[in-house]
Amino acid sequence: METCPVCRNEEGGSCRTMRHDGSDQRTFRCDVCGTFSVDRRLLSSQLNPENLELTKIQRASLSHFIRSNQTPDNYPLLMSDWFRAFVSQAKLPNPAIQAQNIIRFVGNQLLNSGSKVRNLPTNFHAIVGSPSREFSVELVSELTKQGLITGRVSTSISGYDVLNVGLTLAGWECYETEQKGQFSGKYGFIAMKFGDPNLDPFVDNVLKPLIKDAISYDLVDLRNVARAGIIDNIMRAQIRDAAFVLVDLTHDNYGAYWEAGYAEGLGKPVIYLCEKKKFEEAKTHFDTNHCTTVCWTLEEDTASFGSEIIATIRRSLNLFPE
Ligand SMILES: [Zn+2]
Repeated sequence: METCPVCRNEEGGSCRTMRHDGSDQRTFRCDVCGTFSVDRRLLSSQLNPENLELTKIQRASLSHFIRSNQTPDNYPLLMSDWFRAFVSQAKLPNPAIQAQNIIRFVGNQLLNSGSKVRNLPTNFHAIVGSPSREFSVELVSELTKQGLITGRVSTSISGYDVLNVGLTLAGWECYETEQKGQFSGKYGFIAMKFGDPNLDPFVDNVLKPLIKDAISYDLVDLRNVARAGIIDNIMRAQIRDAAFVLVDLTHDNYGAYWEAGYAEGLGKPVIYLCEKKKFEEAKTHFDTNHCTTVCWTLEEDTASFGSEIIATIRRSLNLFPE
């Protein structure tokens, strides 16, 4: 038996190593995090079991990330560069999203097994994205008070549990709404080409702060998960739960077009962005040029772009202008 290098099994469960002779990575199977591989360099540096620098939130969000990226025949491989980028931006889903994850988990379990969830599994907090088991159980108890979930909360010396968990009719309605992508988190998603020397700093230094200041919404992108291999599920979930989706078409990026189509299909408000010169020169190449496109440029000051994009987002979210 080993200690999991990610969650340290501080919230329970145990961890085993699967030996790969001659390989430069090690694969772990943790009751909480699931299965994942770590390359040796990372295991001897930041993910060294002796390293005490990772915060509880960083560990919990890594655990949630790994848990959300398990398929029957695939699991994430963590490598140094990716890891550095991930922990620097590590963040757990906010409690409203965690609550939604709880309802989805319980609903799926009920539909699969036909009976109530007898006891919450050891990895429950990693599935919903809570910092600890205690926190996730408190959220479940909150959801029972709101009449969405049924179950008996029990705290004993052995830990926090909820027994015989089910959904009420109101809970099923939330489940269905979420499945249809009608629930909107308080964040926007941006689909774009990564690694561009103009677009990257524009998004980080201009666009994200602008949106945060004006309407208090975060703008998220896939940069912190893109290297781990299995990004599809995360991307779909992020688009499904986003309040709006921005799509930058400056580079004719196929991924961005696909994500735009997915979001449009779900009925999300989609707003297109394009670098001004590119838009003026290649306008007719866009199938989307009949849609709302807001142009940006690094050559002029960003005030007029700022007021246009914020007004457009407000309109699509039915927020009153200030
Ligand atoms: Zn673990």
